[in-house]
Amino acid sequence: MIYPGGCYCSSVRYEVNVQSATETRTSICHCRSCKKFFGTGFGLTTKVPKNSFRITQGSLKEHISDNGATVLCREFCERCGTGILEYGKESASKFRYIMTGTFDNPGEFPPEGEFFCKEREQWMPEIHNIFHKREIHD
Ligand SMILES: [Zn+2]
Ligand SMILES: [Zn+2]
Repeated sequence: MIYPGGCYCSSVRYEVNVQSATETRTSICHCRSCKKFFGTGFGLTTKVPKNSFRITQGSLKEHISDNGATVLCREFCERCGTGILEYGKESASKFRYIMTGTFDNPGEFPPEGEFFCKEREQWMPEIHNIFHKREIHD
């Protein structure tokens, strides 16, 4: 299955090519860093094998942050700023975490878990029947 996506201004387009959506894992993250980057109350990303992802149009700019504990790379459209993907240094050779909302059909990737629940906003209800972790980005 090919799952296409792209940024807000359409200059960046990409494809994720996997046998089925079960090769992916979507999760919510309530950490401070995700709230800042996504500009919302939580982050939503879909973990895909690195080799399943390719840019089909345009190019991404990257931002690397090193807070001492983690080195996190985030890539975004240089024209409109839409975040397209992120990955930590440890998973750099294996996985990409796609900003789920950038898929053309984001509803195909319902979340399977929530991370950093200790930083969940009070107004945000817990989603039932998925896993919950107090911390950890995985
Ligand atoms: Zn764009
Ligand atoms: Zn996070």
